[in-house]
Amino acid sequence: MKLTTAPSAVEPARDFPELLPHGRPTVRLHPRRGTPGPHDSHIGGPLLWPAAEAWPECAEHRDINGRAYTLPLVAVAQLTAADFPELRFPEGTDLVQLLWCPEWHEQPHPAGWGQACRLHWRRAGTVADPLTEQPDPEEHWDHGPDMIPRACVLHPERITDYPSDEELPPALAGRFRAWLAERDLPDDLTTVPGHKLGGFMNWCTTDRPDALECGTCRAPLELFLQFDTAEWWPGSWGPDGEPHRFRPLEDREREPADGTDDPSREPVGMTVGRGGHGGLFVCAADPRHPASFFTQ
Ligand SMILES: [Zn+2]
Ligand SMILES: [Zn+2]
Repeated sequence: MKLTTAPSAVEPARDFPELLPHGRPTVRLHPRRGTPGPHDSHIGGPLLWPAAEAWPECAEHRDINGRAYTLPLVAVAQLTAADFPELRFPEGTDLVQLLWCPEWHEQPHPAGWGQACRLHWRRAGTVADPLTEQPDPEEHWDHGPDMIPRACVLHPERITDYPSDEELPPALAGRFRAWLAERDLPDDLTTVPGHKLGGFMNWCTTDRPDALECGTCRAPLELFLQFDTAEWWPGSWGPDGEPHRFRPLEDREREPADGTDDPSREPVGMTVGRGGHGGLFVCAADPRHPASFFTQ
């Protein structure tokens, strides 16, 4: 299935060329509920996991008597180099897997989301004997399912993302805001919403941390994977009452015009942060260093 983002109300090359050098590629994942297999790229599906390797656990839980106990981490995403050649796979790897503990433990920076968020970089061909029975999150997490994803297949689409004001030179950000205001245009260009790889995250709730750097080596952190409560917003958008730019064009023909019942809007079924979005950031020098997760 092909899913396509509508053009922005702003066309930087024509309207605001100063923005062009700040653009960065992003991959909209367009997750949709489905039944991905263990060799597929997906969100919330089965991982290609060696049967001989222990399933990772979170040890940061205590019962009412203060005794520590562990819970299996939840399989969150798996991405292959074949589907996502733009990812910087460490040498000898072609598969990356994300697992996390769906409970909030501590503020993420700089050590990652507690020790409970793990990226595993593997070579798929070396998993000769995959684990067939994987922990079922429903069995272990009887409460707080906000951060347990539903199984989704992915329909990647490559577009260009632009940073929010915080990450632009202040004078340029000011000129861009004024330009939009003069024309009564919405900003449907910067910080692409929804599930995506790379690009820029919108720090609309907290400010962007001053030092967004790796807790291990102090190299800059970069957005690896964004999670979002919704892929786009229903209703009209902009002066002409257009649908939200990020509602795929193909869906507009299939589903109600205002998008209210469109199952493509919240396919992953997570409530990220307080109904916003979150970004998993990895070290620009070595993506095997512990990742950090920030919600907005
Ligand atoms: Zn935990
Ligand atoms: Zn690092």
